[in-house]
Amino acid sequence: MNHTLRILVFFLLGISSLQAQNEAYVSSSEAKISDTTFVNLRDYSNDFVYDMKYATEDNFLKTKVYDCAECMLRLKTVKALIAANNDFLKKGYRIKLFDCYRPLDIQKKMWEIVSNPTYVADPKKGSIHNRGGAVDISLVDITGKEVDMGTSFDFFGIMASHNFKQLSEEILSKRAYLKNTMIKNGFNSFDSEWWHYNLKAGLKDKVSNQKWKCD
Ligand SMILES: [Zn+2]
Repeated sequence: MNHTLRILVFFLLGISSLQAQNEAYVSSSEAKISDTTFVNLRDYSNDFVYDMKYATEDNFLKTKVYDCAECMLRLKTVKALIAANNDFLKKGYRIKLFDCYRPLDIQKKMWEIVSNPTYVADPKKGSIHNRGGAVDISLVDITGKEVDMGTSFDFFGIMASHNFKQLSEEILSKRAYLKNTMIKNGFNSFDSEWWHYNLKAGLKDKVSNQKWKCD
């Protein structure tokens, strides 16, 4: 083998081993996980604030219906939510989560208490929460304080509506900021609840009734 050929062979071997490494790296991270797989948001980001109301008794059911405060979602919802949170972080805010994926059995319990489709989805149809494509959220500011959105989460009344305008300019502008940023990142808003967002690409996914692991 002459000198030039030796260099060429070395070079080609170098390229193929680099490619192999890259392939191995990709497959060990995301390549094998489909966008519709349910994942835990915590495994993808540390930049969210958790206030998972249904893992406490501080909710309209007055019972703790989740064993632990995890935010499970389909991978595509996680990706869009992280993109939205990155937008908020640039302005000194971050997303606070109240609810994410919700098993169908929990939806049935909610419907028994509030059988009003303006506020709770009929379990016969299923909520986008049951499909892993919806989140209930607010914002916290740079000091960690929750932004005033005019009502608490799960306030079942007209004041929680995006169409209710008898609120301060400050509150209206914060609701609009939340809504516009979420829409920019692939979500739909829900008129009667300022906190609820559906991933547009997740509206047709299957309803699911599974429990997640708690440590
Ligand atoms: Zn919701």
